[in-house]
Amino acid sequence: MAEPRLTPRKQWICDRCGQVIRSADDGWLEWLSDDGGKAHSFKIVHHAQASPRGKRGCYFHEDHPDLMDMHLDGFIDEHASVLFSFLDVGPMHDKNGKDVPRCRDVREVVELMKRLTVPYYEEARQYWGVALEHGFFEGANEIWPYLPKNLKLLIETYGEE
Ligand SMILES: [Zn+2]
Repeated sequence: MAEPRLTPRKQWICDRCGQVIRSADDGWLEWLSDDGGKAHSFKIVHHAQASPRGKRGCYFHEDHPDLMDMHLDGFIDEHASVLFSFLDVGPMHDKNGKDVPRCRDVREVVELMKRLTVPYYEEARQYWGVALEHGFFEGANEIWPYLPKNLKLLIETYGEE
């Protein structure tokens, strides 16, 4: 049985180098914002100072003209509500919801939200394909796969020892 390697909601896997981001302080969130103000192409990566790639860094969109980015600790714990603005900034700033959603692909934003806020999801998603193949989710309703205890079980069952 494998033990979880990542501290839930405190550590992530870098989308660039595949290594562990050891703390939110070592992490960075990048995305692009198109002409219509729609966010897309989210990447969780190492901040330059923590990148195992040294000077090359782990940034994805570094030279892109539409780049938006922020320190990862601005999106977790008590700051997680910042994530909601990728869907809707709310009636105070968008009275009639004409800009809803504020992203190209709601599913991409929900995936980002899961990675940052659901305990054990970030690690479990590494083994999702294998678990699916082995019938781990058979008979599951929409809630079951994302319950932390089930995500932990997934890691224990399919994770690397
Ligand atoms: Zn990295």
